[in-house]
Amino acid sequence: MVHCEDVRFQYSGESFALRLADFSAKREETVAIIGPSGCGKTTLLRLISGILTPQAGSVRVGEETLSTLPMAARQRFRITRIGLVFQEFELLDYLTTWENVLLPYRISDALELNDSVKEHAEALMRETGITSLRDRFPGELSQGERQRVALCRALVAKPALILADEPTGSLDPENQAKSVALLREQARAAGATLIMVTHDPEVLDGFDRVVKLPDLLERRADS
Ligand code: ADP
Ligand code: MG
Repeated sequence: MVHCEDVRFQYSGESFALRLADFSAKREETVAIIGPSGCGKTTLLRLISGILTPQAGSVRVGEETLSTLPMAARQRFRITRIGLVFQEFELLDYLTTWENVLLPYRISDALELNDSVKEHAEALMRETGITSLRDRFPGELSQGERQRVALCRALVAKPALILADEPTGSLDPENQAKSVALLREQARAAGATLIMVTHDPEVLDGFDRVVKLPDLLERRADS
């Protein structure tokens, strides 16, 4: 599902360089990526999601080589095929739970909102226990509830790939394990590949594979 080969990436004007010979994730696999702060975890997710493109090497997701697609096509691919869960959830404050869950359908013409999508959204909200919060705004939700809204939004368009960047970062320890289990179960139920980045070794139970990012990185020739 995901193949990164000989990827080289550097932010312009920064000394940080990501050099990755090989990283793959199979269809329906759940992979946790761990590593210390600043080692490049978020950068790797940005490369896999096509938010960033590498200076060299290739990033493939499914049949698509994201690293060579023009920006508009990458964006379209991301919205329609990839579910993203951000560290701070990134819900829109002026939209209700229901509207936030259906956000991909607001921002992309490539997705058509119809009755079966609405039924799927309702089913996800039922499974994650947020049906009663449908008309509330993010400011009226707890952190754990917001996390569930973000999860439903990431799954609503039935993405083949879910990318989660420290999705438990703002949760208390008790809710962290619960949330990650939920993310894993929902990905599994949806038949999606899940790649979750975390710096927290406590939440890794149940993943098919745990990858330490520093072990994947090539050392810089000049260091
Ligand atoms: P992690 O998620 O593992 O904490 P990041 O991928 O966020 O690591 O960051 C890796 C390195 O890249 C850090 O040194 C960070 O300061 C730098 N960095 C991250 N984002 C940017 C950016 N948008 N512009 C320039 N440098 C960045
Ligand atoms: Mg990060």
